[in-house]
Amino acid sequence: MAMPVKNAKITNCYKDPLCKIKYTKGYHTGVDFIGADGQYVPVCAFRDASVLKVGWDPAGWGNYIILRYAGKYDVVHAHLSKVLVSQGAAVKEGQQIGVMGTTGNSTGVHLHFEVRVAPWTNRNDINASNFLGILNQRGPVQDKPIMIPEVIFSSPGDDEMAAAYLARFLKAERRALTAPGDLANVEHAYVIGSPVKPIQNTTNIVGTDRFDTARKTLELCK
Ligand SMILES: [Zn+2]
Repeated sequence: MAMPVKNAKITNCYKDPLCKIKYTKGYHTGVDFIGADGQYVPVCAFRDASVLKVGWDPAGWGNYIILRYAGKYDVVHAHLSKVLVSQGAAVKEGQQIGVMGTTGNSTGVHLHFEVRVAPWTNRNDINASNFLGILNQRGPVQDKPIMIPEVIFSSPGDDEMAAAYLARFLKAERRALTAPGDLANVEHAYVIGSPVKPIQNTTNIVGTDRFDTARKTLELCK
C-alpha cells in the first residue's frame, strides 16, 4: 500500500475531537493531509484501483477524484488543484492521480481523504486512518502503513471452529466473513469454507463438506 501523500502530516483526523468546525454529519468524515515537503504536492493512488468519478463541487469538495478499491470502497480525494486521471481509468498503487490544492470549501492547501463503503452516495464513511493502517491522530504520518500479515475469515458455525484452530496456530487475527472490517492493510487472507476472496491474495480452504473443510484446515496446522 502507498500513502496518498508522501511525507504527510495530518491536520484533522477522522472524527477529530480537536476539530472546531461544525460538519453536517457532526464530525470530520475523512482525514486531512498536508505535505511536509511543500504545499502543492502530488496525490497518489494508495492501491491499484479504478477511477469511479472525477468531479467539481464548488461548495464542497472542489476538484475531486473518487477511486473504487476492491469493488467495495469508494475513496474520495478532495480540494485538488489538478486532476491527472479520467473517469473509468485504472490506476496503479503509487501512481500520481492529482495535485493537492484548496479548491471548493477549503481554507488552505490540503487533501481531504475519505473512505466510504460503496456506493459513495450512501455517505457511510469509515475510519480512513484505520483503512490506511496509520494512527488516527494529528501530526506526522509514518510512510509505511501498519500491515496485518494474515487474517483468517470464516462464517459463523462449524467453519468458525476450524478458523479458530488455524488462527491459534498461525497467531493470526480472525474475522467474520460477513463483517470483514477494513481490508486495505491486510496482506494475506485465509477463507475457511467459502470461495469468496475478500482480497486478491486469498487462500480458500473448501472441502467437499464441513468435515472435509475442517480436515483440510487442520492439515495446514502441521
Ligand atoms: Zn477534511
